[in-house]
Amino acid sequence: MKREAVRLQKLRPQMTELPLMSSGFDYLIVGAGFAGSVLAERLASEGKSVLIVDKRAHIGGNAYDRYDDAGVLIHPYGPHIFHTNSREVFDYLSRFTEWRPYQHRVKASVDGQLLPIPINLDTVNQLYGLSLTAFQVEEFFASVAEPAEKIRTSEDVVVSKVGRDLYNKFFRGYTRKQWGLDPSELDASVTARVPTRTNRDDRYFADTYQVMPLHGYTRMFERMLAHPNIKVMTNTDYREIADFVPFAQMIYTGPVDAYFDYRFGKLPYRSLEFVHETHAQEQMLPVGTVNYPNDYAYTRVSEFKHITGQSHAQTSVVYELPRAEGDPYYPVPRPENALLYKKYEVLAQATPNVMFVGRLATYKYYNMDQVVAQALTAHRKLSRVKVLEETLA
Ligand code: FAD
Ligand code: UDP
Repeated sequence: MKREAVRLQKLRPQMTELPLMSSGFDYLIVGAGFAGSVLAERLASEGKSVLIVDKRAHIGGNAYDRYDDAGVLIHPYGPHIFHTNSREVFDYLSRFTEWRPYQHRVKASVDGQLLPIPINLDTVNQLYGLSLTAFQVEEFFASVAEPAEKIRTSEDVVVSKVGRDLYNKFFRGYTRKQWGLDPSELDASVTARVPTRTNRDDRYFADTYQVMPLHGYTRMFERMLAHPNIKVMTNTDYREIADFVPFAQMIYTGPVDAYFDYRFGKLPYRSLEFVHETHAQEQMLPVGTVNYPNDYAYTRVSEFKHITGQSHAQTSVVYELPRAEGDPYYPVPRPENALLYKKYEVLAQATPNVMFVGRLATYKYYNMDQVVAQALTAHRKLSRVKVLEETLA
């Protein structure tokens, strides 16, 4: 209680400066990541007053970036590479940033070699010491693939395309490490994120737009939120202020089970520990990310300068160590979790004046662009409701 009083004391000077205190805010937005920031910007642009709060010390959610002590631009929550096929999402974000073209490349450390992943023609040739053509590698995959009647799990997806040896070498260990589950216990959608190729294309993504914000994600978020109708409060859990700051509607982008005090039990989210290092050399890795499917406790190491394009005499990298406990980073796609989420979704839909948007709030393994698209759709839905209300009034 005493802590809460101190906290409120700290908030008071900021709260008195908040506009519209008499009538309150039109929206309280919980979470200043992509979901919350896109909605804040959209609503503010049409005259709504918005208070956006985040319990972290910064905006940007998991996409937040900053300069480390050495002056290297890093992503504290792991490497974030922007890619999308959506013209709408690209055009929308282009209002807040210029871009730098960047095509991500990843190598997997397998049998003592660094090989291209997604598996492609070169992966097969280098791994087995062959010199197959694109046509022959197709025949090779067909000869080792184990056809499945129904592709249900993350094991089925890979084994039915490239057979068991490549599955064991590239996917089984990585997935067990990343999720603490065997691929046979995860939905097909997880490993289906990584395609198989018969050509020599070694890009990790094949999307139409593959770009990085020229001055970083945080700068882009600052521009999105730099609207006179938007007030930003960091270091603030919404539960600390919700009873004191009047608002008409809430948009919630945190974990959905937390909102409902875990009423139906905890929804499994996978966590990570990020270990950051700076090295006194210009470059450490041959590509942006190296995956370690079979060795070490970490899944991958990424070097930021490849991704951001920064020139610097030193270099910073991040190792990702999967964890069962900690900040929620990944929903875990498997049937029993989908069932549990369904219960929360029903509750969420029945909660008046609160809208649930984003990766954690809708328990979807979404990339950044998918979250932006989801937020833009949510905004359109809110606008339709408003038009309907005005028509009926
Ligand atoms: P978040 O960014 O998680 O934002 C939610 C915010 O809500 C958080 O800042 C949190 O602090 C806040 N919050 C929660 N509860 C409360 C509360 N009670 N009170 C106040 N605030 C609260 N996507 C890509 O497209 N490309 C990539 O390369 C990529 N790499 C990734 C790598 C990693 C390691 C991870 C974990 C994710 C990656 N993603 C990537 C996915 C990307 O991070 C998400 O799609 C995106 O950030 C989700 O945005 P969001 O707004 O839904 O959630
Ligand atoms: N995966 C794997 N080996 C790899 C890369 C990916 O087994 O070398 C599997 C693993 O289950 C992983 C999933 O494919 O969680 C999706 O990979 P992605 O790189 O898209 O994961 P994210 O960037 O979202 O962590």
